[in-house]
Amino acid sequence: MANEKKAADETSTKAKEKASKSSKAARGKAEKASAETRAKRSQTIAAKAASAKASKQASESKGLADLFEHALADMYYAEKKIYKSLPKMIKAANHPELVEALTQHREETAAQIEGLEAIFALLGKRAKAEKCDAIDGILEESESLLEDFGGTAAGDAAIIFSCQAVEHYEITRYGSMSAFADALGLDEAKVHLETILDQESAADSKLSELAEDTINDAAAEYDEDESEHA
Ligand code: ZN
Ligand code: FE
Ligand code: FE
Ligand code: FE
Repeated sequence: MANEKKAADETSTKAKEKASKSSKAARGKAEKASAETRAKRSQTIAAKAASAKASKQASESKGLADLFEHALADMYYAEKKIYKSLPKMIKAANHPELVEALTQHREETAAQIEGLEAIFALLGKRAKAEKCDAIDGILEESESLLEDFGGTAAGDAAIIFSCQAVEHYEITRYGSMSAFADALGLDEAKVHLETILDQESAADSKLSELAEDTINDAAAEYDEDESEHA
């Protein structure tokens, strides 16, 4: 009985020693870990401070005039790309009024490109185009819509669908740019921008009118015929 007790005591002592060893090891690990954490934390703080400094510098070196210039280069790129993409739409369009509206708007687009060049000249800068991912995306979508719907009963509706996305993009950008020009006191630039903005709005309204008056109904008739035949 006594031996058993002794053995049990020994076991428990060993267990205690083992426990204390492992807790020492754990403490060591924890200390090492917290040193690492502290080092990491100070690195993070340093990085944050550096990036705050960088963004502060950015905010000090760029103002509304820079944003205006960026928007100008962006729309210069967009208009040129729109001008290039319109013939494909015109060729695929079926309704004569849609063909006419798009052809007329392409001519306006050529004048808009010149209008933007005039603004660059007013700023004393050479006209430059800056890649616009937004218009690239909208035009890419237009192309695949044309592949899917071109020549179908919904073809003209799809063309209007795409072109109105372009017009609305232009309207948001020229609206902002006109307000920027206003704030910057660029009165002559603002006149050019308002002229372009009016053309974009008129083009958008014309497309809505065509869609709502004839083109959508003609396309919907096809769906009705199809369901009758089914
Ligand atoms: Zn941009
Ligand atoms: Fe335009
Ligand atoms: Fe853009
Ligand atoms: Fe337009």
